[in-house]
Amino acid sequence: MKTVSRIKTVQMLLQSARKTGTIGFVPTMGAFHDGHLSLIQRARRECIYVAVSLFVNPLQFCDPEDYLTYPKDLPSDQRKAASAGVDLLWVPSVDEIYPPGHCTFIEVGEIGNRWEGAARPGHFKGVATVVAKLFKIVQPHRVYLGRKDYQQVRVIQQMVRDLHFNIALRVLPTVREKDGLAMSSRNVRFADDDRKAAPILYKALCHAKRLVSEGEDDCRRIVRQAQSLIRSESRATIDYITMCNPVTLEPIERLTGKAVLLLAVKIGNVRLIDNVELILPRGKKRRIGGKEGHQIIDVEGNED
Ligand code: AMP
Repeated sequence: MKTVSRIKTVQMLLQSARKTGTIGFVPTMGAFHDGHLSLIQRARRECIYVAVSLFVNPLQFCDPEDYLTYPKDLPSDQRKAASAGVDLLWVPSVDEIYPPGHCTFIEVGEIGNRWEGAARPGHFKGVATVVAKLFKIVQPHRVYLGRKDYQQVRVIQQMVRDLHFNIALRVLPTVREKDGLAMSSRNVRFADDDRKAAPILYKALCHAKRLVSEGEDDCRRIVRQAQSLIRSESRATIDYITMCNPVTLEPIERLTGKAVLLLAVKIGNVRLIDNVELILPRGKKRRIGGKEGHQIIDVEGNED
């Protein structure tokens, strides 16, 4: 595996790799965990050449403290990437990505203004801008993204379509800890008691999934129950819980086909996002009333 920083070197290496076959690309901010590695491993299986970028993009952070304290461990990332079979680990500098005088940005429209976009103004403009630059430089055939960042996936899908990038996006399931917490680089920030409380998000997603599997189609009722479950955990503060159209991310009131439940919750000082796709089973009647047990079923049951 080569670790490189300069854009020119990346372009030179990729130019010769492109002649040999499919280039797979995994954009990341580093501090690798099994979620990142699942994307890399899939790319490894499907592509001749695997490039991974590691860039903590200042443009997508609203909170300077969050940017400055974002977890970093390059030697460990290099080891993990090399043993997962990465060919090229690209670690660009902020100055080369945003040279002095840089003033061109990608506007992402409504899809990037709601939910995470509302909580973190400018976040998706920063994501789209950096991802467009990375795509332009790497020119991959396939890009691997995690469904954990559902809205980010939608923003990137939209951008790829609108800007005519000739790239196939592969969206992979969320990798979780044994207790259901979605893996995230920021999970290292948890205080012990907060970490113990964090799986409440997964329990709420599983509960929503069970309600829908039983035929519940009233989105307000599903959201209310998820809220009450999360509020039973005193360390949790809900930012938003919403049932949305999985393409437009507009809120919906009644589930007819497929929807996504998106949530953002703060546990102590750590803000978590998570989601589950929900599909009303065919032929199920609307559930009226019913039990409110909190049985756990696997939220990734619908994933590919
Ligand atoms: P990040 O380094 O957080 O910017 O994430 C880089 C890529 O890894 C993005 O496509 C994320 O959606 C994906 N990712 C992050 N966490 C997970 C996870 N727990 N499971 C699967 N993919 C993930």
